[in-house]
Amino acid sequence: MPEFTTDLDLACAHLRAGQLLALPTETVYGLAADARNAEAVARVFALKGRPSSNPLIVHLAEASQAADWAASIGPDAQRLMARFWPGPLTLVLPAADWVPRSITAGQDSVALRVPAHPLARRLLERFAGALVAPSANRYMSISPTCSAHVAQQFAETDLLILEGGECRVGLESTIVSLLPGQAPRLLREGMLAAGEIEALLGQPLNRGSEGAVRAPGQHHRHYAPGTPSWRFRQLPQEALDDPACGWLWCGQARPSAGPALDLGADPADYAQGLYAALYRLDALGLQRLLIQSPPADEAWAAVSDRLARASTPLD
Ligand code: AMP
Ligand code: MG
Repeated sequence: MPEFTTDLDLACAHLRAGQLLALPTETVYGLAADARNAEAVARVFALKGRPSSNPLIVHLAEASQAADWAASIGPDAQRLMARFWPGPLTLVLPAADWVPRSITAGQDSVALRVPAHPLARRLLERFAGALVAPSANRYMSISPTCSAHVAQQFAETDLLILEGGECRVGLESTIVSLLPGQAPRLLREGMLAAGEIEALLGQPLNRGSEGAVRAPGQHHRHYAPGTPSWRFRQLPQEALDDPACGWLWCGQARPSAGPALDLGADPADYAQGLYAALYRLDALGLQRLLIQSPPADEAWAAVSDRLARASTPLD
């Protein structure tokens, strides 16, 4: 059975001993391990069932540590770090030679982030090192945004979970790659909007990963509930009468025979509640789940990206 704690000394000792710790961050809970301990890093891949071809994000206490991990930090990276760290932004930079290629999935780039969650920050300061921390879920299942979901994912293990309440952001970080000789590229949408990053850089971000680095968080099927899930713009009216059909609304809930949750029409609130809603609906043993698509504007880009990976379009 997983064990919950709020004791930072215990959590720190655990990490120093090469063990794994589920760690709250402002995005989602991470499965943390000492980034400099190759055996601990290998345990993360093994416990998640994550293919070794998926690189891990290195979490730091402060931006100054990035110089240990990156071979070089250009002016764009400096500005993004100064403005958005600590926070839900991951930067992919050229990796220093010594960085274990098990972390980078064999690539010469490394992903770095300084998380903003107060407990994560205090733990990282106390640990005085760096932590890899992919989302604390089994490969291809829904990221956890509270400790109970972590415990559910790893129910038959004795994983230590640092209790940190509900994650404020609720979706994984925005990932931007800044590699020498390449235009800045958005590798993953997050609640830190691409437009804010572009405004600071003074240029548009390239999109997608073609020809550049691999970003396996972009696998088409990812973040998916077990219940077959569809998303719609045009309401499939007849399904409202089906008690085995669950609903996830985006502010325009209609009476339905099956269970329904409405995450509302505010993108930040919706993002914060999305994964918990999917956990809840998934636990009901429904035949299908119908998800109302959010508006197509940029404020919803990260939510729409995750819904596109979690469901099949009906229209
Ligand atoms: P997770 O920690 O589960 O949110 O996933 C981390 C994600 O960060 C990966 O799935 C990749 O998309 C991305 N990532 C990590 N390291 C790199 C890297 N060196 N190059 C490109 N993308 C990376
Ligand atoms: Mg993940």
